[in-house]
Amino acid sequence: KAKDKGSNLFQFFTEDMQREAIENIALERRLKAAVANQEFTLVYQPKIDLDKNQVTGVEALLRWQVNGKNILGPDKFIPVIEELGLIEKVSEWVITAACQFSKKINHDSAAAPIKTAINLSLKEIKNPQITTIFSEQLKVHNLPGEYFEIEVTETSMMLEPTQTLEHLNIFNDLGVAIAIDDFGTGYSSLSHLSKLPLDVLKIDKSFCQDIGENQSTESIIKSTIALAHSLNLRVIAEGVETYHQLDFLRKLRCDIVQGYLYSRPLSYEDLIDFIEHFSKDSK
Ligand code: C2E
Ligand code: MG
Ligand code: MG
Ligand code: MG
Repeated sequence: KAKDKGSNLFQFFTEDMQREAIENIALERRLKAAVANQEFTLVYQPKIDLDKNQVTGVEALLRWQVNGKNILGPDKFIPVIEELGLIEKVSEWVITAACQFSKKINHDSAAAPIKTAINLSLKEIKNPQITTIFSEQLKVHNLPGEYFEIEVTETSMMLEPTQTLEHLNIFNDLGVAIAIDDFGTGYSSLSHLSKLPLDVLKIDKSFCQDIGENQSTESIIKSTIALAHSLNLRVIAEGVETYHQLDFLRKLRCDIVQGYLYSRPLSYEDLIDFIEHFSKDSK
């Protein structure tokens, strides 16, 4: 009987492997339900323009929450959603929620216009529908593409360059800014970089966290900022946690910073408060 064969097969699994397999099945089941029930929410991390000393944008970050409690981080659950073939639903949800957010904040906040950055994975950016989904939501909400930025990691941009490039060009034509995320962790060549319709380079947080600790990382940051500026890109440093890191980045003319030093990712209400106090305190 199949059942007997099954139990035979199971003898090849160690106890840990068995537990892991059961946990994965449970996780997949919970995630399917999470997608169906929309147990997702976006939180928003402020980005501070150093010249203007002002919040000019936010990064929208996905959370899986039940009763206000985070279940698992996006870098853990998004790959599983992709394996389940459900990522398109989530992309659509994120883009719609980001448009609703943009509409609201640019109406409510004195700091408007605020640019909203959305992260797109390799699978998402390759989706043939992705640019249509996005442009339709812009239309529905009557928003200009210029209110948005998409963040695609350096690694994603390198892996399947032709498919990615086609979609990046469409986003670019819509007026959406394009950021290369986690820069420094991939292996992009200068010649490839200069062919992409990029607007922003985001230095990976692992580099910023080495400021003051590692001189060769500091040199890499310095030359990366110079490279970005020579390609007419704005530079964002992510993961800024200390005043020392901030001073270092400011001296090198980094354009925008983002990190726990200023703020963690926030709910809509907390973000409105943050922006209000930030503009008051810096006057
Ligand atoms: P990312 O795009 O590089 O986002 C930055 C991550 O660093 C976020 O983690 C953020 O909360 C965290 N962070 C911000 N400031 C600091 C800091 O000062 N120190 C430290 N240690 N961390 C900081 P999070 O929210 O857990 O997201 C992890 C990754 O998941 C993101 O990395 C992004 O690649 C992915 N992700 C998040 N939301 C989405 C989404 O809506 N769609 C897709 N496709 N990916 C997403
Ligand atoms: Mg990002
Ligand atoms: Mg452009
Ligand atoms: Mg990053």
